[in-house]
Amino acid sequence: MSQSITDEIFLAMENGELQAYYQPQYDARKGVIGGAEALVRWVKKDGTVIPPMEFIPELESNGKVTLVDWYIAEAACKTLRKLGDKAVKISVNFSRKHASDVNFVKRLERLVAAYGIDKRLFGVEITETDVVVDKQLVVQWIEDVEKAGFPVAIDDFGTGMSSLSLMKDIPAHIIKIDRSFLNDNCQSEKGRVTLESVFYFAHRLKLDTVVEGVETPEQLHFLHACDCDLIQGFLFSKPIPESAFLTMCIEEAPVDVKTGNPLEFKSGFGTLRLLVESVYRKYPLIVYVNLSKNSYYTMRKESFINDSLSATGTYDEGYCYVKTLIAKEYHEIMDEAFLRENLLKAHANGEEKVIRMVPQHHSDGRKVLMCIEDYFMTSEVSKDVFMVCFFQEIDAEEYEVNAVKERKEV
Ligand code: C2E
Ligand code: MG
Ligand code: MG
Repeated sequence: MSQSITDEIFLAMENGELQAYYQPQYDARKGVIGGAEALVRWVKKDGTVIPPMEFIPELESNGKVTLVDWYIAEAACKTLRKLGDKAVKISVNFSRKHASDVNFVKRLERLVAAYGIDKRLFGVEITETDVVVDKQLVVQWIEDVEKAGFPVAIDDFGTGMSSLSLMKDIPAHIIKIDRSFLNDNCQSEKGRVTLESVFYFAHRLKLDTVVEGVETPEQLHFLHACDCDLIQGFLFSKPIPESAFLTMCIEEAPVDVKTGNPLEFKSGFGTLRLLVESVYRKYPLIVYVNLSKNSYYTMRKESFINDSLSATGTYDEGYCYVKTLIAKEYHEIMDEAFLRENLLKAHANGEEKVIRMVPQHHSDGRKVLMCIEDYFMTSEVSKDVFMVCFFQEIDAEEYEVNAVKERKEV
C-alpha cells in the first residue's frame, strides 16, 4: 500500500500532474508582494487536487522526497523566468534529507544558471521533518547554501527541531514562524507574550521574519506591533496555480495590510520599540556594566565609538582599549569617570547616579564633550552592583555658551 503512493507520485511527475502552486507573501509594511512559497500539489486529470500532506510524509520516510523537491525547484525556476523583471523571491521547500547530498549546492547552482535566475530570487526553505537527520550535517549544509548566495529560511520555527538552540548554530538569516503561535488568534496574554518573545529573539539576531498561517485581522494587527517583515496566509491568499500567480505579480495589485496605530495595540511591543527608539535619539550609546563581575554589554544604535570595541567583554579591558583612542591629556579625567573602583566607591557612598563630562577632539578639529550618565542598581539576588551608562556627545562651545548664560541668570 505505502509503496503505491510513491509510485503514483512518480507517475504523476512523469505525466505533468505534479505542480507547483504559489502562495504569495506580503510585505507587512507596504502591502505589496514581497515573495512567495512554492508548494507541491498533485493535480489529477479529473481536476482533484491532492495536498502534500497526503504524500510528503511517506516520501520523507523512504527518502524519495528529494526528487519531488528538485522537480518543484525546476518549476519555480520556470516561473521566475516567465516573470522576468516582475519576479519576486520564490522559496522552495527542501527536506533535511538533502543535507547528506554533497553535490546539493553545485546542482542548485547549475539549475538556476540554466534558467538565468539570480540566486537571491531563489529561496531555500528547510522544512521540519519527523525523520532524524544529523544536526551537524544540517548546519554544514545550510552554511554551504548561504555561502553560495541563496537565502535560507528555517521553516516552522518553534516546532520540532526548528528551535532556539538550532538557530544559534545555523547561519540562516530568515525564520518562518510557525502558525501554531497564532492558534489563540493573538487574544491571550500568554500567547501574545510568547509571540513577542520570538520576535524579540529574531530581531536581536537580525533575522528576517515571515509568519505563516495568518487568517484573521486580529492576528495581522498584532503582527504589525511585532514588526514582522513578511506575512503569508489565507487572509491574503491561498496557494494558487502558476497562471493566477503570474497575473498577480504582473498586475502588482497591492493589498491593504492595515498598518494601524501601534499605540492602540494590546501589546507592549509597539510602544516599547518607540520608547527604545526615542532613547537612542538622545543617547546613541548605552552600556550595561556589572561592576562586581567586571563585565559589560553595549547596546549600540550606530557606530558611536570605534567599532572595534567588542559589544561585550571584560569591563577593565574594554576601558583600557577605549583609553588608547583618547588623547593622553584627558586620561586623568577619564580614570575618574570610568575606573571601576571609583564607580564602586561612588555607589558605596550612596550615590544613585553619577554624571561625568570628558572633553574630546574630533579629527575635524571640533571640540566635544562626552557626557556620561551612570545609574546604579543592585541585584537583590546576587547583590552585584550594576550600572547603566548613557553616552551623549555635546558640542563643547554650545555647552560653554549655555553654562555662561546660566551663570549670568544666577
Ligand atoms: P509549509 O512549508 O509550512 O507550508 C505552509 C503550509 O501552510 C501550506 O500547506 C499552506 O497551504 C498552509 N497555509 C498557509 N497559509 C495558511 C493559513 O492561513 N491557514 C492554514 N490553515 N494553512 C495555511 P500545504 O501546501 O498543504 O503544505 C504542507 C506542508 O507540506 C508544507 O508546510 C511543507 O512542509 C510540505 N511541502 C509542500 N510542498 C513541498 C515540497 O515541494 N517539498 C517538500 N519537501 N515539502 C513540501
Ligand atoms: Mg515551507
Ligand atoms: Mg511552514
